[in-house]
Amino acid sequence: MSTSVLPGERPDRLEEACAVFGVYAPGEDVARMTCFGLQALQHRGQESAGIAVGDGETIMAAKDLGLVTQVFDEASLAALEGFVAVGHARYSTSGGAASWEAAQPHISAIDDVLIALAHNGTLVNTDRIRALLEGRGVQFRSSTDSEVAAKAIGEVTQTTHHLRNGIRRAMEELSGAYAMVLASPSSLYAFRDPNGIRPLCIGELPDGRGWVVSSETCGLDIVGAEYVRDVAPGEIVRFNEEGMHAEQGVPAGKPAACIFEYVYFARPDSVIDGQSVYQARRNMGRILAQEAPAEADLVLGVPDSGVPPALGYAHESGIPYADGIVKNRYVGRTFIEPTQAMRQLGIRLKLNPLRSVIEGQRLVVIDDSIVRGNTSKKLVQMLRDAGATEVHLRIVSPEVGWPCFYGIDTDTRDQLIAANMTLSEMNEWIGSDSLAFISLEGLRASVPDVRCRGFCDACFTGDYPVEIPAAVAKKSLLTKKDFEDVYAEGSQ
Ligand code: SF4
Repeated sequence: MSTSVLPGERPDRLEEACAVFGVYAPGEDVARMTCFGLQALQHRGQESAGIAVGDGETIMAAKDLGLVTQVFDEASLAALEGFVAVGHARYSTSGGAASWEAAQPHISAIDDVLIALAHNGTLVNTDRIRALLEGRGVQFRSSTDSEVAAKAIGEVTQTTHHLRNGIRRAMEELSGAYAMVLASPSSLYAFRDPNGIRPLCIGELPDGRGWVVSSETCGLDIVGAEYVRDVAPGEIVRFNEEGMHAEQGVPAGKPAACIFEYVYFARPDSVIDGQSVYQARRNMGRILAQEAPAEADLVLGVPDSGVPPALGYAHESGIPYADGIVKNRYVGRTFIEPTQAMRQLGIRLKLNPLRSVIEGQRLVVIDDSIVRGNTSKKLVQMLRDAGATEVHLRIVSPEVGWPCFYGIDTDTRDQLIAANMTLSEMNEWIGSDSLAFISLEGLRASVPDVRCRGFCDACFTGDYPVEIPAAVAKKSLLTKKDFEDVYAEGSQ
């Protein structure tokens, strides 16, 4: 996606929430494997990284703010000895800005036994559970929903003395999106919410050396694990000396896998629930070319996620594909403040046009989504400045008109351009010659191989698969017009 990520500035994009990774492999360097797994999943969260390792007796953990390679080195990995591990890379949603306390895995004590929990997703009902636990004297170190889940599991386990019961009872109570991995000193657990909103897959190491769980299959590939299957919605899977054992923790609900994983969040080399992400993106471009053709000389993709659909669009339309936008891969999340003048350059810190390709050309530009529209506006201007004679924007997701409450950081509705403008108003404001979005049916048709056959598409439709309590939704579902109406009513 075309985006500028400058310190102190909200990114004009849907941001991923987190990556989780787990290993059960006696005799292997599980901390190192987890470190590599998290590096493969780094695109899902860059604010903090952590690894917890069990050695049969206890759990040891290391975590800090920063990228995986900034947090871990040879010495810190060597200190994490054991045979079961969980890891986490975080982008903050619930729990606010980056902080050490909010970094995961969360460690909880059950009597004298430690557990480590890593969570991808967002829970929507933790206020009540937190208050309940605090009433029983449970103390919290962060404001994250993930810590509430860890403490809830710990509480039940303490009374029933069975970790599986603790997980099951917690799953009955928790509502929202969660793909979690949990390590006890001697076992690994993986479990997923009843709607299966966030992805989680299982892999096996060769020669029976052990098991791996990962947010995406690219995390399995990097450690040489072979994909076995996805964790099913509502399922608890345990790995220990007896092997892999699966059971239904809570009944599965209506399948609601996040369709945006295929558009933008997941790595193109991952396969989620049977569907190649790369192929899905090619399909999106192909279908978009059928739905929204354009008269142009070249098709460009906004790196990275816009490139596969641009290839699909080019192939279907017969318009040549060109690499016309170059991404600076090393300007990412930075703690170094750019100067005000650099800030005004906006996305050129991250994306730069190739004038020699673009000059004098009519362009079809493929991007994955439009959130607030500021970045698209800068992108169009940048391409015109580089000599493009026409810029036709084609977007491979439908209009994002609703916020996500399931682990993706989105703006409130009043900030989302599609919730507040018509298509022609958006086109005019962004400054493109034409603008079109793929239809929801087109997007669904782009993922034909998915096994679950049911998606969450709430950020396009407002049809939320898990009810959002009013206290959580607050004002985030109001458009600008709604605010004006409320203000007008209040002033009468
Ligand atoms: S609301 Fe959108 S981003 Fe959030 S889980 Fe649903 S499809 Fe994914």
